[in-house]
Amino acid sequence: MSRSRVVIVGAGFAGYQAARALSHHRGLREEAEIVLINPTDYFLYLPLLPQVSSGVLEPRRVAVSLPSTLPGVRLVLGEVNGVDLDGRGVSFTDPEGGAGHLSYDRLLLTVGSVNKLLPIPGVAEHAHGFRGIPEALYLRDHITRQIELAGGTEDPEECASRCTFVVVGAGYTGTEVAAQGKLYTDTLVKRHRVLRYRDPPRWLLLDIAERVLPELDPRLSRTADRVLRRRGVEVRTGRSVKEATSDGVLLDTGEHVATRSLIWCVGVRPDPLVDEVGLPAEKGRLVVGPDLVVPGRPEVFAAGDAAAVPDRTRPGSYTPMTAQHAGRQGKTAARNIAASLGHGSARPYQHHDLGFTVDLGGVQAAANPLRVPLSGIAAGAVTRGYHLMAMPGNRIRVAADWLLDALLPRQAVQLGLVRAYAVPLDTSAPELPRNPEATRTAPPPTGPADNPPESKPPHSTSSDRPPANGESPS
Ligand SMILES: Cc1cc2nc3c(=O)[nH]c(=O)nc-3n(C[C@H](O)[C@H](O)[C@H](O)COP(=O)(O)OP(=O)(O)OC[C@H]3O[C@@H](n4cnc5c(N)ncnc54)[C@H](O)[C@@H]3O)c2cc1C
Repeated sequence: MSRSRVVIVGAGFAGYQAARALSHHRGLREEAEIVLINPTDYFLYLPLLPQVSSGVLEPRRVAVSLPSTLPGVRLVLGEVNGVDLDGRGVSFTDPEGGAGHLSYDRLLLTVGSVNKLLPIPGVAEHAHGFRGIPEALYLRDHITRQIELAGGTEDPEECASRCTFVVVGAGYTGTEVAAQGKLYTDTLVKRHRVLRYRDPPRWLLLDIAERVLPELDPRLSRTADRVLRRRGVEVRTGRSVKEATSDGVLLDTGEHVATRSLIWCVGVRPDPLVDEVGLPAEKGRLVVGPDLVVPGRPEVFAAGDAAAVPDRTRPGSYTPMTAQHAGRQGKTAARNIAASLGHGSARPYQHHDLGFTVDLGGVQAAANPLRVPLSGIAAGAVTRGYHLMAMPGNRIRVAADWLLDALLPRQAVQLGLVRAYAVPLDTSAPELPRNPEATRTAPPPTGPADNPPESKPPHSTSSDRPPANGESPS
């Protein structure tokens, strides 16, 4: 009897947990092949990414190896660019540009989300998002470089502009980026022989909402707001950007802020692959039932940010786009896929939020585990403990980095490996630095199903040359 094949697209919180649960499933292990398609060979622990951009953690710490931690799963490196629902197959492009195709008996789509764009002039050209390791590495180097260039110039206006950083979006990502970034630049400046006698670096955190962390418990907002302001971050709520240019941003108040750094954290939208699949969607998220099955397609499942999963704890709404839900949905999807193959019984997805943690850098955090509001060192300890528990690997390495950061001065060097052109805001693949010569579209699959990637488009190259107009100044 031939083995069934379960194909999981995307190894984020949902896909990783689903793959793990399926590969540990006693009944299924022998009977089904579990295939995980992902553009990278790691699971990215996104909640710690702001600590990479501020130099607390090395990037590999937040990248958990898929082959090492999922030994029972076949990893296919690639990016899916087409799903043939009637033919039950997916086509993909591998990291070297080769095209491949895989058939499936069950398909789980867990492709997550990408940076959200708003139609504001200049933003797509001058802002950078915060969704993957390339962007975090770019930002860490960029911040370091701005302070170093500011220290070398004799022009006070240039110095002030390079020492000004604007973060748009005060959700958990923007709040953490601003909180950690301010600490980082203050540290850099304190060590500088000239800059330490000047005004401290300026960080602005803007949000159209009336409070920071608008989607979370107001008590967390108050804690974060207090910590940020005490640290010197200019929190501007009820405000947004009207236009971005190469030398600054125009706020909706009419104020012009001279800066070389516009960090875009206004949220995320579901991965564009959802659109391409051509199934009913809700605000870009694939519609599924409470059992995570796509209506009318019993062999197709979806979970995580890319899926509109009915929230049974808040009837009439969908589960929020959080790691907490995505990971748990992945496990439920695994259970229901196994049930659909004759192992065990299916169950609907249901989860009550357990609270949230927001790391504000140093020993500060805002957290409400099990709805108990915490701030200061207690919140900091809970937040870090939670991350260590939630990470599926690299825990000792992460803890070691935290310890080193507490004991030693932060290592402030910029390697300059990720340039601005490689991390455009408008990208459907934030996990990979963009190669200006490569395109995302692969030729349609040819030949028999399941052929490994073999052909390379003529211009595909692994080198990363800048486009003709060089690096954007932002
Ligand atoms: C900076 C940051 C901090 C965050 N902090 C928190 C937090 O503290 N707590 C919390 O609950 N949530 C947090 N979130 C949100 C949380 O990370 C997401 O809700 C969660 O990652 C969603 O999981 P997912 O599995 O749906 O998608 P993801 O984790 O985004 O994974 C999607 C995977 O699919 C892959 N993929 C995409 N397209 C394709 C394709 N075409 N083919 C193959 N693979 C593909 C991607 O490479 C990726 O590996 C944070 C998000 C960010 C950006």
